[in-house]
Amino acid sequence: MNRLSTWTAATVSKAIAKGLMKVSALVRKQPNDVVLAKIAAIPGLELEHGRGRDSAHFFLNFLRHVERRGLSERDVAKRTEQYLVHPVIASESARQTARVRHGLTGLRSLILSPTVRCNLRCEHCYNLYEIHEDGHDRLSLETMERVLGEAKELGAYRVSVIGGEPLLRWRDLVSLAETHSDVLFTVFTNGLLVTDEVASALAARGNVELAVSVDGPAALHDRWRGAGTYLRAVNAIERYVAHGGMALFAPTVTAENYEALLSDAFVDAMIERGAYMGYLHHYDMVGGQERADWLLSPEQLQRMQRRIEEIHRAKPVSILSNVVSDLLRGGCPAVRDFVHINHKGEVEPCCMVPFAGASIHDQSLAAALKAPLFSDVCAIGPDAHGIKRCLVGENLVTIRRAVDRGNAHGTTTRSHALFAHEDPALLAKLPTCFSSTPALQ
Ligand code: SF4
Repeated sequence: MNRLSTWTAATVSKAIAKGLMKVSALVRKQPNDVVLAKIAAIPGLELEHGRGRDSAHFFLNFLRHVERRGLSERDVAKRTEQYLVHPVIASESARQTARVRHGLTGLRSLILSPTVRCNLRCEHCYNLYEIHEDGHDRLSLETMERVLGEAKELGAYRVSVIGGEPLLRWRDLVSLAETHSDVLFTVFTNGLLVTDEVASALAARGNVELAVSVDGPAALHDRWRGAGTYLRAVNAIERYVAHGGMALFAPTVTAENYEALLSDAFVDAMIERGAYMGYLHHYDMVGGQERADWLLSPEQLQRMQRRIEEIHRAKPVSILSNVVSDLLRGGCPAVRDFVHINHKGEVEPCCMVPFAGASIHDQSLAAALKAPLFSDVCAIGPDAHGIKRCLVGENLVTIRRAVDRGNAHGTTTRSHALFAHEDPALLAKLPTCFSSTPALQ
């Protein structure tokens, strides 16, 4: 039995929360660099570079957020349970069991699309055409409840809920969060449907955070998403926090908006609204837009990384970029850390890879993950820089071979168009997950 008992999880969380309250009082008056310098000497912590530094900043800024909101020790214990005890301790134990029982590496999280329907039509959407061509939800609440239970058995105590606009099914999300109260749900939303009723119902569960898409200052955001949508998005953050929930800002990053997104004015505005972190999702050309000019160049990516580090040193907020983080962690995490279940119940290695190797309608998630496509993806090694590259970039050949052998099929009307990206000249220009960027330090 992998799962921590309710009593154990609560007891461990309370003990950690007590310690955190003390630490948070200690770090209150000192900048992150000073705190980190003091603890960097502890053997084995490796806080100087990469992942260790990332995690340390995240931890300290989380404490600062707790401090700023004046959360009680009871609140902190609850957050500790949701953000640490289940996704780290319970998850690791479940992954070990999955290795023995199923011969699988297990999962750290699951990406779930309850729907691809959406109330907006954004130019940079990774799902631009599918949303408006296939609006039929085929994942019932019962199926999602079953699959989440199976995902936990494999280690996935975190679920990223994407779409489409997932809040179109907000009542189902409330039920899911209630049934799986030990799972932390991050719901990626454009914020338009966050009324007081929705915010209060989701925040009351205690295990749902909202990741609101804010693509930059009002003029930039409204240009892509429609007039007035910026205000509604930032109001959604504020409203959710006012109802006691945790919220983050989650823009799509392009070469056009990355500087504005990381400007002092924008980051400060997000902190003021109550966001505890920013999650930057990089635009990739999988939505059919073919806007290569929106992809960040390797130089822009390096500049972005330096700017994120400056923000971590100076401001009480953590910024996570999926590309920078993945590069720091050795590259593509698809299948190693997560898989995507789309609105049809098909299992894709990643939400940016519109090819499936199995379905969860006729088998358990563990059985689905034994499909050949997922073994092929796991078998891909790192390149000369020590980085495992993207499945719709340098490693697209693995997907194409799986399709040729009948082990995978395209899940959108445009899946097969991606094979044009195998062109080396185009690949050389693709600096995000498709990148040839050297390892970041
Ligand atoms: S590198 Fe590509 S396949 Fe891997 S997680 Fe990123 S977008 Fe998905």
